[in-house]
Amino acid sequence: MPTLTLQWMDHGILLKYGDVRFGLDLALPHGTTLLSHAHSDHTVGLERARHVIATEATVRTFKARGGRPDWHLSIAVHGDTILHDGATITPLDSGHVIGSSMFLIQLDGGPSVLYTGDFNPVDSIVHKGARPVSADVLITEATYGSPEWVFPDRREVHTKIVQTARETIESGLIPSFQTYSLGKAQETIALLQSAGIGVVSGNRVIDAVASVYNRYGAELVFTSVHSREAKLMLDAGCSIVTSSPKHTAEALRTIHGVRAARSIEDRLEHFTLSGWALSGSAFGKRGIPLSAHADFPHLMEFAGSVAPRIAYAFTDNAPVLAQHLAEAGIDSVPLQ
Ligand SMILES: [Zn+2]
Ligand SMILES: [Zn+2]
Repeated sequence: MPTLTLQWMDHGILLKYGDVRFGLDLALPHGTTLLSHAHSDHTVGLERARHVIATEATVRTFKARGGRPDWHLSIAVHGDTILHDGATITPLDSGHVIGSSMFLIQLDGGPSVLYTGDFNPVDSIVHKGARPVSADVLITEATYGSPEWVFPDRREVHTKIVQTARETIESGLIPSFQTYSLGKAQETIALLQSAGIGVVSGNRVIDAVASVYNRYGAELVFTSVHSREAKLMLDAGCSIVTSSPKHTAEALRTIHGVRAARSIEDRLEHFTLSGWALSGSAFGKRGIPLSAHADFPHLMEFAGSVAPRIAYAFTDNAPVLAQHLAEAGIDSVPLQ
């Protein structure tokens, strides 16, 4: 029986089993790439890929963020199996951003492998959380894979964002929430919208990604900073969601003139939405811990439910998570 080997390279993982080769978020010029989602750390060098398996929403968000797919594409549908040379692949919702996938790979005559990509097991307004499935081998992300990372209940985080927006607007200022353009920006728009707070989106890429969300039924309503109405809305009292305050400021100046832009900029209160905000030192009081990843207890619980014979952890906290999984009785190796 061939042995399974996994190798961390170029921000992705090369899986080899006999003649079978898969690039897990790794562009392979002569093989197949399983693309979990379109965040930039997962699409490094993707133009070099020959054949990509990804959901339609992942390809659309990749394009919305300026990517040019030039590969043979097999569309993945969550829950539907794809037969491939030497393996049966089942993409599953990873709950991280729209269309994001985990991949369950059943190698012919060999082990089953679950690659999580980035995942979040908690339901949010616009995403459904990842659900574990059993596998012989687990390849898990470990972004927050250290015990200090325990996120508050998501509803608490949502309440904090809405309260912050309301209080800032009531004091005559404009709350500007900075976050990733794919995923958390759309979650934040949906959240503020559901609380009756108007949203100006601060970047074209947020608009483009939001229209992908709307294609799949999200019904996000917002005004682009690039439109004339944005100034009226900002003067009347609303929030901004941006992935780049610098680009938002440039757009304000270009569209609304330097004077109007300055009067808006003088009223901005900046907040950052990120799991790292929990550390206290990052972003100070201006950080709110909204994350699209599993926190430490969820990473441990998820791995426990998959119940693999061996787990491999990747990203920053891989050695720490691997050690804790080993202590919990799951043989574990950091991939670095
Ligand atoms: Zn991601
Ligand atoms: Zn990532």
